[in-house]
Amino acid sequence: MFCSHCAEELPDTAYFCLKCGVKTTVGIEAGVASPWNWEKEVEKTVITVARDVGRAVDTVRDNVRKAINKDQRFCAKCGDKNHAESEFCYHCGSALN
Ligand SMILES: [Zn+2]
Ligand SMILES: [Zn+2]
Repeated sequence: MFCSHCAEELPDTAYFCLKCGVKTTVGIEAGVASPWNWEKEVEKTVITVARDVGRAVDTVRDNVRKAINKDQRFCAKCGDKNHAESEFCYHCGSALN
């Protein structure tokens, strides 16, 4: 038989054209599914994984930041580290909040 799309000569048992990938009448009659687009699937998986990893990194970063900031306060004015209980910066006297 011949491909309906590119007229390539094909074995009578071919479900898809060897040259252009179009489904043959044999393939249509056999009810074969279209070829699995693995590149799309891989891409989808990679995007999902990347998003999950990004979210996980954000969570870790938040937790680390919280752990670091738990016992100290940073002065908004001079950036110096102050004790968590401090109301005013020990360094420049600015009110901490
Ligand atoms: Zn073809
Ligand atoms: Zn300060």
